[in-house]
Amino acid sequence: MRPLPSSVDSAQANRWIWLLPRLAFGLFIASVATQLWLTEKADSDESRATLISDALWLEQSLRFNFKHNEERLADIGPAQAADPRRFEAHARTLLGNGLHRVLWLDYRYRLVVSHPAYPLEPAPDASMLAAALGRPVYSQHYRDASDDWQVSVHVPITEAGRQVGTVVGIYSLRQVLEQSVPWWLAQRNHIGITDLSGQSLARYSKVAEGETGPGHRIDFDPPGHGLSLWTAPIRQPAQILGKFLSISLVLLSLLVLWSFWALRRHMQHRQEAEQALREHYAFRQAMEDSLQTGLRARDLDGVITYVNPAFCRMVGWSAEELVGRPPPMPYWVEAEMDATRALHDRILAGDGPKQGFEFRFKRRDGEVFWALIHEAPLVDAQGRHTGWMSSIIDATAQKQAEELAHQQQERLQATARLVTMGEMASSLAHELNQPLAAISSYTTGTLNLIDSGRTDLHEIRGVLDKIREQAQRAGRIIRRIYEFVRRAEPKSEPCNISKLINEIADLVEVDARHNKVELTRSIAAGLPQIRGDRVLLGQALLNLMRNAVEAMQETPQALRLLTVSAWVDEGQLLISIADRGPGIPATQAVQLFEPFYTTKAEGMGMGLNICRSIVEAHQGRLGVEPNPGGGSLFTITLPLGAPAP
Ligand code: ADP
Repeated sequence: MRPLPSSVDSAQANRWIWLLPRLAFGLFIASVATQLWLTEKADSDESRATLISDALWLEQSLRFNFKHNEERLADIGPAQAADPRRFEAHARTLLGNGLHRVLWLDYRYRLVVSHPAYPLEPAPDASMLAAALGRPVYSQHYRDASDDWQVSVHVPITEAGRQVGTVVGIYSLRQVLEQSVPWWLAQRNHIGITDLSGQSLARYSKVAEGETGPGHRIDFDPPGHGLSLWTAPIRQPAQILGKFLSISLVLLSLLVLWSFWALRRHMQHRQEAEQALREHYAFRQAMEDSLQTGLRARDLDGVITYVNPAFCRMVGWSAEELVGRPPPMPYWVEAEMDATRALHDRILAGDGPKQGFEFRFKRRDGEVFWALIHEAPLVDAQGRHTGWMSSIIDATAQKQAEELAHQQQERLQATARLVTMGEMASSLAHELNQPLAAISSYTTGTLNLIDSGRTDLHEIRGVLDKIREQAQRAGRIIRRIYEFVRRAEPKSEPCNISKLINEIADLVEVDARHNKVELTRSIAAGLPQIRGDRVLLGQALLNLMRNAVEAMQETPQALRLLTVSAWVDEGQLLISIADRGPGIPATQAVQLFEPFYTTKAEGMGMGLNICRSIVEAHQGRLGVEPNPGGGSLFTITLPLGAPAP
């Protein structure tokens, strides 16, 4: 597996990864803010420039009106003043643009005629000044009866170098604005006229109320004394598009900020998950490295996809050499290639052994070893079967231990057999004595016949037959003993169980007779053959029968009965050995089978333990229960067709 980068590396990398987006985000916000500020500034600069040009234009326009009116007022002469109707006609043409009254004053500055009619005489100062200067003069502003601020222009009229009168034009400052300011200008500005102290004398705008921006003031003197023309832009409601743009920019910035934050959070979560994964991975790696069991994964085609270090150590090939390798594998034993391939194919077909099984593998150095293998389907996170996972244990040591235990068991069994035979020696000697004694007496009889000259060959032949029979009997006894004592490998051979029971019973019968025990056999006819080791099974039967004989030493002679039975029940072969001894207390029933448990002074305590091992090696069971008629009943249960031990 590829190692994950360390957390220190990734923390450093993270710092650098975050620097760039942070920088980009900062620049983005700065450029958006600058853009908004520049737009705002350009707008305000533009509106300021518009305001100033509007104000200048208005001042020029008003000044032009005033100038024009001055000239036209100067056109009125004494002749018109003398005729009120002519005066009125002339004056009417002059009214407008704020000029709402025209007066004629005589050379003494007294009111002669006025249009519209006006009873009050204006103060003579301005007229006098005008006469003195010989040019139109504007009065101070003043309020009239209607509380409107007024300014009057006094135009001296001379004829032949002599002043004949003064034409006075009275302006209403409010009307000047209302009538002279074009609508488009009043639409976007508040326009006013203020005095020196800043007091508003007249004010005009098409828009009744509205927020104003910073205004612009221009001296308006003349016509007024210390008057100023003041214009202030009416703040236009911001353009929908511009507003929309600004709002979208702000929203966009917020969105970028939010996504930046969300991204960061997401990254943090990922980092935490990555850290947890890294720790988990390190733990798994450590676990894998310290594992003594080999692990191997194969895909559905048998190609190795993973091996752990323990497996590599076991076989001697590295993970790089094994991963990606299709069969045959380098650790297969050449001599068993076909069998290995067949097993491999069976496993891939899903037909492999369900339990663990032992198999021979080869190390790189050529050593062949036993491996205990467990195969299981490899299922991925989606529940798909993607291959096979095997756990492999090097069973060499286990095999050796088993072998050693087996050898020890065998030696023990051989010793037990010798001991048994030793114990039986006197009985056997007695048994052998009979045929030998018979042979001896038959031989003596024959010799006597020959010595007496009776050489009836027919008779001699009959005696020799008997001698041969007795010799064969002795030979059988010796062979049985030899076969029993001989140490041999456990075999799996067809075994006639009735014959075996009878043979062992024959062997024990000598002992039984010696001990005044009656031995009865109840062997069902036609018992099936079983597979097994007849010597070992014989030893188990012999042990049980001898124990039974020994157990009845205290039993009254008439009751000493040993019954050996064999029958088939529910597909199993049952052999029971029943005695009329003291029986076995339930508390001892388990102890009996433990090694070296004995109640006999000369006993070894291995008999029952060996019996049970032998029966279990034949996949059978050995149990003990009270004999219904008193004593103990040992039962061997063997499966029919039991596999070899
Ligand atoms: P050993 O015969 O050398 O004592 P065994 O393992 O054959 O060793 O027997 C262990 C003990 O079990 C015997 O000492 C005896 O006490 C008891 N035992 C065995 N068979 C019988 C039996 N048929 N009846 C009563 N006790 C028995």
